[in-house]
Amino acid sequence: KTFCRSLPKIELHAHLTGSLSDATVLRLLHAKRQEGVVDLPDSAEVVLKRGHNRTLKECFEVFRILHCLTDNLVALRTITRDVIREFVEDNVQYLELRTTPKVIIGKMTKEQYIETVLDVIGEEMKANITIRLLLSVDRARGVDDAWDTLRVTKQYMSQEKYKNLICGLDISGNPNVGDLCDYIPVLEAARKDGLKLAVHVAEVLNEKETLHVLKSGLVSRVGHGSYIHHKCGGTHEMVNLVKNFSIPIEICISSNIKSGTVKSISDHHFQHWWKEGHPVIICTDDKGVFNTSLSEEFQMCAETFKLTHDDLCELCLCAVDSTFLPRNERDELRKTMQQKLQHLR
Ligand code: IMP
Repeated sequence: KTFCRSLPKIELHAHLTGSLSDATVLRLLHAKRQEGVVDLPDSAEVVLKRGHNRTLKECFEVFRILHCLTDNLVALRTITRDVIREFVEDNVQYLELRTTPKVIIGKMTKEQYIETVLDVIGEEMKANITIRLLLSVDRARGVDDAWDTLRVTKQYMSQEKYKNLICGLDISGNPNVGDLCDYIPVLEAARKDGLKLAVHVAEVLNEKETLHVLKSGLVSRVGHGSYIHHKCGGTHEMVNLVKNFSIPIEICISSNIKSGTVKSISDHHFQHWWKEGHPVIICTDDKGVFNTSLSEEFQMCAETFKLTHDDLCELCLCAVDSTFLPRNERDELRKTMQQKLQHLR
């Protein structure tokens, strides 16, 4: 446990609102009650029952409640700062945070949402952490909303102050709602605009969608990919596409097990890709909702799949190549990681 904590880590799949700790949620609940907000869902406290297994549908209900608690710019500032600091405490050296810009009439525009998150990222980026932002497209909100998010994202990419902080687009949201195939034109445009794409693919079994998206050649990193490997309900064709395009896979074990999309940890697809030497990155997904930390994800993976200390160091170092950083910044990060890992090997 101590070893996993001391590892210098890279987090590439963390949804902002899903990452809220209990302490932050309690503070948000308190603030709402102080404000005299009475229309809080009765079940608001339910989000605190962390670590419980919840179906994907129930997870999305938790997100809905969390979104009620974070429906203003003051709360957004607080949560962004808290989440970043918690990752720093867990010895995360490089963080790609992702979040869905929201419009709440009278409270925030997408522009204000993005600007607030970027400002906090700028303030929190000190010597011990580098942070980049991915803007999320929620597949349940429809293609028009995705185009709108891309439009606003481009606006901030071209601003000198924020330019280097946005590194890509994420496509997420309830995998049982909407069809990713409809989003291909948005993905094409985003790639043309220089954005890298982290796409939730095959979080649940969906052969048609998975093949279509992988064949597009647009995906820079796969999120979850639970049903891609032929030993886990996918097909050889899917595996070949992932391998031929060299697409790294973001692995979120607690999320998959607790939400029930993967039956048990010993069935987890991590082991097949890892054995085959394919790039995999251990991530948290929603450390708050799934009551985990990146160190705990490493520990669980090590215990289940009998990984050695050297394997764990290798996983940390190899993650550098899956980041969306430009080459020179990757090289810098690799150097820092190598230096820190030297003391652990
Ligand atoms: P936000 O984008 O900061 O509001 O973070 C919460 C959002 O992330 C959720 O509403 C989903 O759209 C997305 N999300 C979090 N976890 C998952 C997942 O496991 N699958 C798909 N989408 C997810």
